[in-house]
Amino acid sequence: MSVIVQKYGGTSVATTTHIENVARRVIATKQAGHAVIVVVSAMGKETDRLDGLAREVGVNEETFREVDVLMTTGEQVSVALLAMTLINMGHKARSYTGGQVRMLTDSAHTRARLLDIETDRLRSDLKDGVIAVVAGYQGVDTEHNITTLGRGGSDTTAVALACAIGAEECQIYTDVDGVYTADPRVCEDARCLERLTFEEMLELASQGSRVLHTRSVELASKYQMPLRVSSSFRDVPGTLISKEDESMEQAIISGIAFTRDEAKLTVTGVKDVPGIAYRILGPVSDGNIEVDMIVQNTSADQTTDFTFTVQRDDYDRVMDILQKVVDDIEAGEVQGDAKIAKISLVGVGMRSHAGVASKMFKVLSDESINIQMISTSEIKISVVVDEKYLELAVRALHSAFELNEEGA
Ligand code: ADP
Ligand code: ASP
Ligand code: MG
Repeated sequence: MSVIVQKYGGTSVATTTHIENVARRVIATKQAGHAVIVVVSAMGKETDRLDGLAREVGVNEETFREVDVLMTTGEQVSVALLAMTLINMGHKARSYTGGQVRMLTDSAHTRARLLDIETDRLRSDLKDGVIAVVAGYQGVDTEHNITTLGRGGSDTTAVALACAIGAEECQIYTDVDGVYTADPRVCEDARCLERLTFEEMLELASQGSRVLHTRSVELASKYQMPLRVSSSFRDVPGTLISKEDESMEQAIISGIAFTRDEAKLTVTGVKDVPGIAYRILGPVSDGNIEVDMIVQNTSADQTTDFTFTVQRDDYDRVMDILQKVVDDIEAGEVQGDAKIAKISLVGVGMRSHAGVASKMFKVLSDESINIQMISTSEIKISVVVDEKYLELAVRALHSAFELNEEGA
């Protein structure tokens, strides 16, 4: 039995008319001879609306469990409506919440990780010609508490199901034609890519291309599950993300990712002695806060400024933590800037081509954009700039690296 897992995002199920369109696509896949599992997100901006309500009441460590109960209602609505639509169109379908499938996760509410998936019920549905419609983004822990996988997590539900069931391909349908060289909302010239390696997609996703949830790409890469990102509105081939093969041409840069979700903090006048980085970042990590970029240097007077970035949502908490740290380590003061953006160039070809970083810095310098922080990996260069230059920087880099041209 050839199984295809399809995932439809919020815009693709925004109204009951959209849901009918999705149902027709699912039926066409079934009629082409595949067994189908469909994963859906909440309708339109429902998750944002629920998040707004939660914030009005108060979101904190103590309410996280209840926040998950609230947030998962969005997907429960869309699975029910899609299953009903499929049934009314004459097909066998059954909807499932994460708990009903038993998408088992750890207990980290609002950002849980999947541990195991029970597939018996889904397999028997598929055998009986039933289309299984599964709620994205949600699971349960061993105590049956409802959990969520973090915003955008429906992609991860889909890939995890595809891997667990041994699907042929996992198809992610969204509101754009595939993965572009940059977010088409910001860069009009962006070009839809035919293929990408898991590695490149992983960097793009983790550096902020929200077209795919990072964890979904990690899983697809681990289990070598081919991922196709395509449009739910148009018939296009989309972008195939798979392992690197020799026939793939190696673009130096395959895409530009960016994020506005981070904030920068600096502790000034830090003594340049062993253990100081730990004394600053230890309390931050004890608060379960993830740190992204870190910059430290030594100055002539044996003190240094210590700068790092965190998720913008964590900014206030980190500020509080650092105020205490500064007293403990007798440093200068804490400075913060939440209005930053991080821009990253990604491409496997970077491994074998020098000069990408210097070209990037020149392009930004020609636009008089100041670079505040830099970090690199084998296939990525990231810079932090003032948020107000984000669009300008992305467009200038896109054009300088000729990403709008095939084979750039
Ligand atoms: P869904 O609700 O279908 O999951 P998302 O909003 O999560 O959709 O993801 C699709 C959006 O991702 C697109 O509308 C686009 O603006 C954005 N995006 C960011 N970077 C890229 C990229 N490199 N290629 C395509 N889309 C991108
Ligand atoms: N509905 C959730 C969100 O908006 C999960 C998803 O769409 O992937 O984040
Ligand atoms: Mg998404």
